[in-house]
Amino acid sequence: MSHSLPELPYSPEALAPAMSRETMDYHYGKHLKTYIDNLNRLIPGTPFEDATLEEMILKADGSIFNNAAQTWNHTFFFNTLTPTPVDMPQALKTAIERDFGSVEDFRTEFLQAAATLFGSGWAWLSADKDGRLSISAESNAGNPLRHGLRPLLTADVWEHAYYIDYRNRRADYLAAWWNLVDWNIVAGRL
Ligand code: MN
Repeated sequence: MSHSLPELPYSPEALAPAMSRETMDYHYGKHLKTYIDNLNRLIPGTPFEDATLEEMILKADGSIFNNAAQTWNHTFFFNTLTPTPVDMPQALKTAIERDFGSVEDFRTEFLQAAATLFGSGWAWLSADKDGRLSISAESNAGNPLRHGLRPLLTADVWEHAYYIDYRNRRADYLAAWWNLVDWNIVAGRL
């Protein structure tokens, strides 16, 4: 099965200035496209030729894992953003207050995990099989599905996600990213 670049749910300039058109052109149009092109080049003739991205995340290693997970992670990341500010739905707020104390405590803890992740990777909010929420940081292409968790939200902290707009200021990028999150979509994954 051939994998293709997913459609963005907004126009490429819609998230500016928090995320510029130039960042989208590189991050979505070049980095994500390259992971997908690599994956399509790697899988023919392997057991993953007809596998879903989730199956490859759970079972593959090396280059196939890296490119499949980066395809999944970026699709999930871009699909969770919106140019229109969204209030957090009550059900999600209640779950966050139960597991982190308050939305503000959750924001602080999540952004801290993302800001302090050493090198390239992703910060995640996930739910376990009982619906308990947790924050984790994964290096490189890491994904909580590998740990039996259900991802709800992710922040990309690879330098390519922020270097055009924020240079080395990862914390500034994360503060702007927070305001782009579509909390309705996050709540829908609960
Ligand atoms: Mn990225």
